[in-house]
Amino acid sequence: AENDYKQSNPNSQKWHERAIRVLPGGNTRSILHTDPFPIYMDRGEGNRLIDVDGHEYLDLVGEMTAGVCGHSNPIIRDAIISTVTKTGLNLGATTAAELGFAEQVRSRFPSMEQIRFCNSGTEANIYALSIARQATGLSKVIVFNGAYHGGVLTFVHGASVNTIDRNDWVVGSYNDHEGVQRLISENRGKAAAVLVEGMQGAGGCIPGSAKFMHAIQKATKENGILFILDEVITSRLAPGGLQSTILDPHDGTPLKPDITTLGKWIAGGMTIGAFGGRQELLSIYDPRPASESAMQGKPAQMSHSGTFNNNTLAMHVGLVVLSSVYTPAVCTELNALGDWFRQELLDRCQGTRMTVTGVGAVCNIHFGAHEDQREILRIEHLDERHSKADSSLRDFFWFQAVQKGFWIARRGMVTLTMGTTRLELREFIEFVEDFA
Ligand code: PMP
Repeated sequence: AENDYKQSNPNSQKWHERAIRVLPGGNTRSILHTDPFPIYMDRGEGNRLIDVDGHEYLDLVGEMTAGVCGHSNPIIRDAIISTVTKTGLNLGATTAAELGFAEQVRSRFPSMEQIRFCNSGTEANIYALSIARQATGLSKVIVFNGAYHGGVLTFVHGASVNTIDRNDWVVGSYNDHEGVQRLISENRGKAAAVLVEGMQGAGGCIPGSAKFMHAIQKATKENGILFILDEVITSRLAPGGLQSTILDPHDGTPLKPDITTLGKWIAGGMTIGAFGGRQELLSIYDPRPASESAMQGKPAQMSHSGTFNNNTLAMHVGLVVLSSVYTPAVCTELNALGDWFRQELLDRCQGTRMTVTGVGAVCNIHFGAHEDQREILRIEHLDERHSKADSSLRDFFWFQAVQKGFWIARRGMVTLTMGTTRLELREFIEFVEDFA
């Protein structure tokens, strides 16, 4: 498979050989590293990609979930063009577009009573942690094995491989609802926050159980620790984000994190991050005198700056994405399609060494010795899951998929883009059936 790949992609190989001289490994995003060399894409149209050797692909990477609107959505294109031609880039001043965008975010995610924008999901999580530390006066943060919260906040490989605050992380087991209560109460008076994804994305699209997520919410409240929900990926899975669908097993109420972080798709492909939550917490960034803000003399204010925080492209495009492109109706329809697609894949994987996990239109195919489809979900410890994974089978699948015109993430992640049809997905389902 690797030989076929080399033969059919001479131009990609050529670019790669030049790239390794100036970019370590030949690229500038670790996740795109691919042996023997990555495919260089030339352009995208809708849900299609065309590479530098002229092959066309169905785009099932969808820019790691950020590309939910596709490559050439006409409403987004118009917003970009009108920003460039009528507004101008980055006015060094407050604009109505950031207000409009913030109002849209709040109407979709009501737990985000107040919002601030930044430039990436990584930044959003760092600012959310700053709020938690300032509000509590504590520094430790509870995260989970398999978590990914940004390039400098990653816990995917078991041991912490993040590069900031090395000594402050307490790493728990994801989906261990009993262990997490213990962990949180043990860290009372030490931990400022629990930072968690409602479905681990880079960790393999593993949904958090309602029991686990609500155990976190309850225990954090009881122990004076803040609950930060990273919805950088999962906010696209339901009109109100994944938090609106994870219901308390006892009383049916949805999750209500203290702070939520967003990024990726919400600005339709422009660089973006956002964080928001309870008004009294966000007022840490309110520079007005305490009497006018919601803070009433609690923790000291901090500044939140950033040259591009309200950049005109992201603000205008974000506003139209939430109001007119990835609307609640479109979101619901795409994720229903995703649920159908995942079930079809699961059926084809029955009795094979493959299985599929995920929520809505974001899923991950796993490769390894799983006699039972559900085993992967029962394994609560990521290390165990990793030791069972079969990376050569995974790579073989990837080469075959690419050869057949399906662009998927090397690690098996598959995400759907607006406008993708059942017919297109059936072709991928048939490919999986043949492979299995
Ligand atoms: N949180 C999660 C759950 C993510 O998946 C990502 C990106 N993959 C981030 C945060 C970081 O976002 P960004 O890449 O925009 O910094």
